[in-house]
Amino acid sequence: MVIAIHHNQIETPTVTFPEGNTQCESQIAWFTTSEKHGACFVVLKESCFHPRDFRWPDQPADKGTLQINGKTLEVLDVVKMLSAPTVEPLFDTDIPFTKRDLPENSRLIGAIKVDIQYAALLEEAFTAQSSVLGQVDKDYRLVLSTGHAAGHLASYALNEAIAPYWRKTVPLDTRGNPDFIRQTQDKSQVVPYGCEDGFRLGKSTRKAGLNVADLATDLEAVEAKANAILNKWLELKPSIYFEKDGPALDESRVWHCKVGDENFSMFCGGTHVKNFDHVNAFKISLSYADQEMTFSVKAEIK
Ligand SMILES: [Zn+2]
Repeated sequence: MVIAIHHNQIETPTVTFPEGNTQCESQIAWFTTSEKHGACFVVLKESCFHPRDFRWPDQPADKGTLQINGKTLEVLDVVKMLSAPTVEPLFDTDIPFTKRDLPENSRLIGAIKVDIQYAALLEEAFTAQSSVLGQVDKDYRLVLSTGHAAGHLASYALNEAIAPYWRKTVPLDTRGNPDFIRQTQDKSQVVPYGCEDGFRLGKSTRKAGLNVADLATDLEAVEAKANAILNKWLELKPSIYFEKDGPALDESRVWHCKVGDENFSMFCGGTHVKNFDHVNAFKISLSYADQEMTFSVKAEIK
């Protein structure tokens, strides 16, 4: 198949999922058929679909559909695509992990994966510059956005609950507590209505000053304290908003959460609910074995 436009000529596509959008109407900026992936990848000029990150794939990709010329195409996946003047596009985990290994002037943009049978339909719509209607599965987005926002808020509660176990000075979170999460996190997975994380508490963490032995002994009390902090915040009706440098996928975005008089913030490219009005309570669970601590938070829905 001949594609009339090379990927380095794509005008920088924009994304609207950070604002919470679940619908978009857009022309196709570019598309390709990938034999390797047995699928077509579509880039919309303006996309409401959240792609999974290949470096830190904590939040799963959005699900949904594309409506093109009267046909409804199921979205099989949404991934990041590397676009650079000198190389063919790379998708998802084919993209070099380390930033310094990326080709010059490369950009990361969102690509929507659909069945290879739609190649001709896509070419027709691309050539005619037809409008494509993107529809994200709203229910799935909501459960993940709740889980992602809950995970961020809970991480501040965990940092506060673990603060007394640090014997040395380490970098602080934006609330002034030792940033346990940043020091030790090795896993994070957003799940429906919650988040499941892993923390490496090996030799280097002990050397950095964390009293792992006491923390492991007191784990139940730490868990209770984190739950008490988080659920006290829930009563204060946290409100969430974000700031972004620009409308492209690879612009940096900051998640903010206002809790009473406090403002929590961190860099995040995921999706979030604007408040927890639909949440009755949060439940944090901790466990520890073999130098690895696991953490989960789950929102109980009203
Ligand atoms: Zn995040």
